Amino acid sequence: MIDGHVHLERGPYTMEWLNRFVDTAIHRGINELYLLEHSHRFIEFKGVYNDINPENYFGKWLDTKLKVPLEDYINFIETAHSVKYPIEIRFGLEVCYFERHEEEIHKLIHGNPFDFITGSVHYIDGWAFDHKPEHWYGRDVDATYVRYYEIMSNLIKSGFFDILAHPDSIKCFDNYPSIDLTESYKNMADLLVLSGVKAEQSAGLHMNYKYSSLGMNKTMLQIFKKAGVEMITASDAHCPEDVGKFIKEMEQILSSE
Ligand SMILES: [Zn+2]
Ligand SMILES: [Zn+2]
Repeated sequence: MIDGHVHLERGPYTMEWLNRFVDTAIHRGINELYLLEHSHRFIEFKGVYNDINPENYFGKWLDTKLKVPLEDYINFIETAHSVKYPIEIRFGLEVCYFERHEEEIHKLIHGNPFDFITGSVHYIDGWAFDHKPEHWYGRDVDATYVRYYEIMSNLIKSGFFDILAHPDSIKCFDNYPSIDLTESYKNMADLLVLSGVKAEQSAGLHMNYKYSSLGMNKTMLQIFKKAGVEMITASDAHCPEDVGKFIKEMEQILSSE
């Protein structure tokens, strides 16, 4: 089983901290572990986030992040790669995608020793949908969804990413559009297949937001499966205890629905 999305961020870049993730992975029957870090941790990515108003809630939140030199993580990857583990371990980044900053994103990820790059949409034109439910008050939900999937399609088209993170995490606070998104899902499915980008079947919302169901919505799942999109199971764990959680259940969903 694969856990394709696990964050190290709550601990130091030490082998002791890493070993706790690996131990839990082995315990839960995971044989491929993908460790990644949010791009918003690293000083070098500051420019990528400059669409976000530094004076508002999101800007102030980002100001508390963006503190770690990317080199610290790269050095840690190099050390960890020299150790032999009983399971396969990969290191990557979860990069927030912004259409206007493609060139800068490309420069930051190119030439670094990452095993994979996961792309995610957390921001829609300077606004983040997944911080607080009250941030949705007064939003045009239909327009928000349309723009979300437009940005996601551009993410896939950019060619920078191996994996698309949590492709419908916009539902995190139970805001749903009144419009039919079938065409958006089909368009994304075609782009994913064409670009060879894997889509995550993610437990992130279920585990971190107490969202009721696991993984992507059924319509999206059926469209992706029919189109032949390659899927990757992902816990979105943020601590060693959550590594590998719900992977077995999501594999069952993938094989049965
Ligand atoms: Zn994410
Ligand atoms: Zn994540």
